[in-house]
Amino acid sequence: MFADSHCHLFELPNLNEIVQNARTQNVQAMLSASTTPASNAQNLALRKKYPQIHACLGIHPSEIIRMNETEIATAKQFIEEHLHEAIAVGEVGLDFKDATTKPERDRQRELFAYFIELALTRQKPLIVHSRFSADETLRLLAEKNASRVLMHWFTGSKLHALQAIRQGYFVSAGSSLLFGSRSDETIAEIPSHQLLLETDTPVHFNHEMAEPAWIPRIAQRVSEIHQTTLKETETLTFNNALKLFGKKIIPEQP
Ligand SMILES: [Zn+2]
Repeated sequence: MFADSHCHLFELPNLNEIVQNARTQNVQAMLSASTTPASNAQNLALRKKYPQIHACLGIHPSEIIRMNETEIATAKQFIEEHLHEAIAVGEVGLDFKDATTKPERDRQRELFAYFIELALTRQKPLIVHSRFSADETLRLLAEKNASRVLMHWFTGSKLHALQAIRQGYFVSAGSSLLFGSRSDETIAEIPSHQLLLETDTPVHFNHEMAEPAWIPRIAQRVSEIHQTTLKETETLTFNNALKLFGKKIIPEQP
């Protein structure tokens, strides 16, 4: 079976169909990451409705710079109160493409530090977003001794990917592999015991929306790059997801 380690399933009008498609493709666990305060509540509701969906709670760094102090304080309180219902803290991190001024970047740094500490105290893994900020993201995680980390859709250089690997983190192969991306070379460098699969649904490629049912196709591309069989990639990546997220992702027997 497969796991989609990073997607956003809230606010999708055809979610029943998407979950059904995933099931048909043997994608049995989907980690729906939150980006906004509203999506934290939405993901918690989804997890109650669909046993395959697991909620991650957090605020996306690009959202943080649009929120005021009160909104951030309210969101933090909500996350602290509900984190026991979540499988991970995410999506959190630094995005220096969207945050361009020092105050904006400082605000992202402060919140990211808070989320790392929260994940550590509550023993949850972290799902980390990093764009134009790889050095600092990896340094902050190392300083705080974070160990259970997924660097999702890592767009940093190959060098940064290798640094993430040295720090013991997981890196995920995503939908872009299906669209002739340049990430092949980076994925080739990721040892199979630190590799996860993700779609980042509902991201669009050529007007086509990703969905968790794409995971076996992404696994097929990884198998080609790593010169393994699809079955091996399936087993390895699911075991990696189990290591990072725990047994909760195994579907309950009916
Ligand atoms: Zn995402």
